[in-house]
Amino acid sequence: MTVSAGSRSFDSLDPATGEVVGTHPVHSAADVRAAVERAAAAGRWWAGLGHAARKTRLLDFKAVLTQNIRRIAALVSAETGKPRGDATLEIVLAIAHTDWAARHAAKVLGPRRVFPGLLGANLSATLEYRPLGVVGVIGPWNYPVFTPAGSIVYALAAGNAVVFKPSEYTPGTGALLAELFAESVPEHPVLQVVTGLGETGAALAGDPGIGKIAFTGSTPTAKRVMTACAQNLTPLVAECGGKDAMIVAADADLRAAADAAVWGAMSNAGQTCVGVERVYVVDTVYEPFMRELTEIAGRVRAGEHYGPITMPGQLDVIDRHIGAAVASGTAVLGGPGSVRRPYVDPVVVEDVPADSPAMREETFGPTVTVSRVADAEEALALANASAYGLGGTVFSRDKRRAMDLARRMRGGMTAINSIISFAGVPALPFGGVGDSGFGRIHGADGLREFARPKAISRQRFPLPGMNLTSFSRGQAELDRLVRLVTILHGRRKH
Ligand code: NDP
Repeated sequence: MTVSAGSRSFDSLDPATGEVVGTHPVHSAADVRAAVERAAAAGRWWAGLGHAARKTRLLDFKAVLTQNIRRIAALVSAETGKPRGDATLEIVLAIAHTDWAARHAAKVLGPRRVFPGLLGANLSATLEYRPLGVVGVIGPWNYPVFTPAGSIVYALAAGNAVVFKPSEYTPGTGALLAELFAESVPEHPVLQVVTGLGETGAALAGDPGIGKIAFTGSTPTAKRVMTACAQNLTPLVAECGGKDAMIVAADADLRAAADAAVWGAMSNAGQTCVGVERVYVVDTVYEPFMRELTEIAGRVRAGEHYGPITMPGQLDVIDRHIGAAVASGTAVLGGPGSVRRPYVDPVVVEDVPADSPAMREETFGPTVTVSRVADAEEALALANASAYGLGGTVFSRDKRRAMDLARRMRGGMTAINSIISFAGVPALPFGGVGDSGFGRIHGADGLREFARPKAISRQRFPLPGMNLTSFSRGQAELDRLVRLVTILHGRRKH
């Protein structure tokens, strides 16, 4: 990414070659304001279409995305440096989410009757989820289609208009998504893209016309976004990365666990919010696991199996983490020399102390630390001793034990005997706790995240002698109420 001084445009660059991929406008706060105003009007039209018509449009958009997989993948690959195959995979996942959101919005968000309770026997109670208006999506560069789509298509399915600010490293991908959406929804700018640097995102977060911000990025930037949102009490869903752990139990399939650990740590050059950064292996299987891990990781090649580091500044972070890990632990594969800008070769380090930055901070590189533990309980305790809590992995052949560990793992999602498999299940919500953020995208929770519940209670007939919300109420009514509530709730044995 380069910005010429005083310029109103910037270039996105191929991180592998430095070549210019595209030039995009730096949208000002006034541009953002105008986009949000347009979105507000478009959103009213979109909301007015209703669930059935939106479903048709979103399923059409899904088909347009599918027909353009190669075109989108080529651009994602150029802007991020990731192999076309990985770009294709993230687009396929985004298509699956678009399909799910389109097909489930009416059921999850549409009007439904709820039981009014015996005290409200004369009422009809209705619940429905209304759109928020304009949702602002601030997206990252590591999965520039899949990650923002997890907010965009759910927000659209819920009846909102969206203004999307893609990362300055992947503006072209964002612009292409909006262009393709307009093929399915040409009438109004229901999905718009504003491009630029951090200030453009800050303007979006601070815009008074925004109903909710969906942010994906780092924890420090999430705090800045939250501060901007606070000006207008704009709600926020924040996905801020993690330091995900894998637990390898004594009864694990070690080959499968090692294969998953390597892919989870190294794919996309480790630039995955739910990537594996720490592995805890039970002592009795430690040596055979490490043999498998080093063999598999030793065959992985930067520039072939994964691309360069997309954001040049991240190379310094990765370099620092590797240096600290190797200084206090033991390098099993690679080391400080593994950083060959813009590429980083696979790095595996064992026995790294828990206070090392490589164990505490998000590395976002093709590196992994491995620690020996006495048993799965110690693995769980160490895995959970992190400020982050996003995803996690458990490898064990004991289904009940694995489920128990997964439940107690701090974080929003855990995969068992597989790697990040939850991300491909549209019905499962995605999000974290602690420094990993709050709120959920994907699934029914992801649809509700972009809607506000509307509760309606309609009196069907007056209850004779029970008008409790009137100054005409007398002692007899209160006595009847107490008798009724005693019958309903007064028994201590159930
Ligand atoms: P940031 O958190 O800085 O950026 C994420 C998004 O927020 C980008 O679109 C960015 O725009 C935008 N942004 C930046 N500043 C502001 C602001 N003040 N107000 C509103 N929006 C803003 O992450 P980086 O891309 O710099 O990556 C840094 C680290 O964050 C990574 O090394 C990684 O550890 C983590 N990260 C985690 C991700 C995840 O999946 N959870 C994804 C990406 C990063 P712009 O790009 O134009 O600055």
